Parts: sequence; structure tokens; C-alpha cells
Amino acid sequence: MDFRLTDEQELLVKGIQDLMARENWESYFAECDAKSEYPERFVKELADLGVDSLLLPEEYDGFDAGLVTVTAVWEELGRLGAPTYVLYQLPGFNTILREGTEEQIEKIMALRGTGKQMWNSAITEPGAGSDVGSLQTTYTRKDGKVYLNGHKTFITSSAKAPYLVVMARDSENYDTFTEWFVDMKKPGIKLEKLTKLGLRMDSCCEIYFDNVELEEKDMFGKEGNGFNRVKEEFDFERFLVACTNYGTAYCALEDAAKYANQRVQFGEAIGRTQLIQEKFCNMAIKVTNMRNMLYEAAWKYDHGMMTSGDAAMCKYYCANAAFEVVDDAMQVLGGVGIAGDHRISRFWRDLRVDRVSGGTDEMQILTAGRAVLKKYRNQ
Ligand SMILES: Cc1cc2nc3c(=O)[nH]c(=O)nc-3n(C[C@H](O)[C@H](O)[C@H](O)COP(=O)(O)OP(=O)(O)OC[C@H]3O[C@@H](n4cnc5c(N)ncnc54)[C@H](O)[C@@H]3O)c2cc1C
Repeated sequence: MDFRLTDEQELLVKGIQDLMARENWESYFAECDAKSEYPERFVKELADLGVDSLLLPEEYDGFDAGLVTVTAVWEELGRLGAPTYVLYQLPGFNTILREGTEEQIEKIMALRGTGKQMWNSAITEPGAGSDVGSLQTTYTRKDGKVYLNGHKTFITSSAKAPYLVVMARDSENYDTFTEWFVDMKKPGIKLEKLTKLGLRMDSCCEIYFDNVELEEKDMFGKEGNGFNRVKEEFDFERFLVACTNYGTAYCALEDAAKYANQRVQFGEAIGRTQLIQEKFCNMAIKVTNMRNMLYEAAWKYDHGMMTSGDAAMCKYYCANAAFEVVDDAMQVLGGVGIAGDHRISRFWRDLRVDRVSGGTDEMQILTAGRAVLKKYRNQ
């Protein structure tokens, strides 16, 4: 496989490098993290570069660029310390274009290029985490209207996103799961912000829906197709989470390597000691494995060959390998990585979250394991 980037991809990566070199973004990210604020100014700059249009078709002035290009952009942003986890909504335009009504598309497209948060999926409930099929939020038709009732939890971006796509079951026909495009300003919606270990630049809330009045036109996609729709999105999201994990690990490795070369103890740079060298060997192996796995999966996606097993394997491997890399990098930095304001401690907190959010390690293992066995069935 040819791993070289094309001229267009090189140009995009160069644009990212220039943006990241333009100012001290780290102090902005640290401030956003400390205040639990979305880094809107940074996302707007990325939108100006066209990052929110990478996957959009040409008729929407998009690049129609494919996942290998997205991977190259995510890789460079991550390597330079940017929190790519705040960008998971950018490729979401395509979901809206595929599933949305004209009115829904218009509402989301109006936010394009602004850097503002747009929408997210709300599936998880207090009693329905990994077992999403047990969710209890319902929609009920009455007098030509639709009423939404239920309680969602851990919903990313929900403090600021103006719209949520909410999964609910038909109260008259409990096996029918349908999504609804909900304007978060509607009466009957109550939000409670949750504190988080990491990924603090994006919000996470409990949400209560109490007889929220919707119209038939607020249905998102087809009635009864809720789970099929999110399945495709899960694969994509899992891949992006894995890319974020990889980029963060790459950044941590580089920070630690620079430190190990200049930090002197016992009369020599700590990088000259074999125990520290062993850590860099292991970190580099993991970073290389992540890179190869992700580019291969992205290439498969662009050729219509990426499976749920591939996405689950990427998320499971990268979430864990990246966490180990960052943990090793933190050890290399000694006290500097623990106390004070080095970004490595933020990375460590952020990466730990990704072994749960977007589907737990255990669920990825089950999906990936089943996919491997399926391949060898009847042989
Ligand atoms: C920061 C964050 C952001 C999130 N954002 C969103 C969002 O935007 N939208 C949304 O809908 N959801 C979101 N989630 C929810 C997330 O998808 C769930 O937390 C996740 O699916 C796990 O559900 P749970 O927390 O209820 O854990 P549970 O499902 O209760 O699992 C608890 C533990 O048991 C394990 N377990 C469960 N079942 C099995 C089994 N059969 N075999 C082996 N082990 C099992 C799990 O792997 C886990 O280790 C977010 C979560 C977090 C933490």
C-alpha cells in the first residue's frame, strides 16, 4: 500500500501546520479545558480552512475528500496538540444530508462555517447504556402531534448544540425505534450538566423530555429505522475516536522524547538510560501500529470495504494503546507531567474517557471478536 499523501492532502496538512503555528493554541485549549468551554474560535478557524467540508459532496461546495484525507488532517491536528474530539460533529453534515428533510438540512447547513456546535445523537439512558435496545424514551401520537417523553444521559455537546437527534420507541408499538430531530429550545426539555474526568471542552448532560411537542415533519430518517441509521454512524464515530486517540498519543510521544533528550539526572540525559529507551521503543511500536491500522481502515472505508469489526478493532486498540503511550510519556516527564500545567495530564484524563464513551472496550471486543469468527464460519 502506498502511504504517501497526495499533493492536495499535503496542502491541507500544511494548512493545519500553519494554523497551529500561528498562535499559542495550547494556552487557549488549557483555558477552555479548565472552564469546560467549547473551543469555538479554534473550530471556526478550522472551518475557514475547509475542515468541516472535507466529506461534503461537491454540490455543497465540499471536497468529497474521503476518510484517508480526514485521517491525515486528524493525525496532524492531534500531533500538534489539538483536541480533535471536539470535531466529531463536522463529518455529521453527511448524515444530515442523507437522512434529513429539506428543513432539517437547512437548519444544520446554516451553522456550517460558524464554529458553533450543531447537533448530536441522544441514545443512552440511565437504564440503557451498552444495551441500547432497552431504552424507554417514547413517542406518542395524539391529535396530529407527536409527544416525546423520557430521560437521556451522558449526551455530548447537549449544553450548547441547538438540535439533538433523539432515539425513542413508539409507545403503541414498542419494537419500533425512530429518531426525532428536536429543537432544544422547545418547552418541556430540562438539562442538567454533568462534570467529567476528561474531554472537558465538550459538554455532557442529563436531559429530561416531558411531553415535548413535535410534528410528524420532525421525524429524522424513516420510521422504525433508528437502529440501522445509528449503526453506520457508530462505525464512523468509532473510527474518528480512534484517530483522535492516535493523534494524542503521537503528540505525547514527541513531547516526552524532547524532554528525555534534555532532562539531565545523574549527570546525563534521562533518554540515555535503557529503562527510558525501552519506553520509547514500546511507545513507537504502538504509535506505528495505530497509524497502520487507521490508514488501512480509512482506505477500506473509501473503497466501501470497512466493516463494523474494523471500526470496533480500531477503537478498542487505539483507545488502549494510546492510553498506554500517554501513560508512559507521563512517566518520562516525572513530576512535570503530574503537577503544573503540562498538556500530558489533560491527554491522560481525555484518553481514559474514550475506553467507555462511544461504546465500551468490552462492546468493541465483542463486535470485533464476532467479526473475526464470522469470517471463518463454515470453513
Ligand atoms: C463522556 C461520555 C460521552 C458520551 N456521549 C454520548 C452521546 O453523545 N450520546 C449517547 O447516546 N451516549 C453517550 N455516551 C454514553 C456511552 O455510549 C455509554 O456510557 C456507553 O455505551 C456505556 O454505557 P454505560 O455507561 O451505561 O455502561 P454499562 O452499559 O452499564 O456498562 C458497565 C460496564 O459493564 C460492561 N458490560 C455491559 N454489558 C456487558 C456484556 N454483555 N459483556 C461484557 N461486559 C459488559 C461494559 O463494557 C462496562 O464496562 C457518553 C458517555 C460518556 C462517558
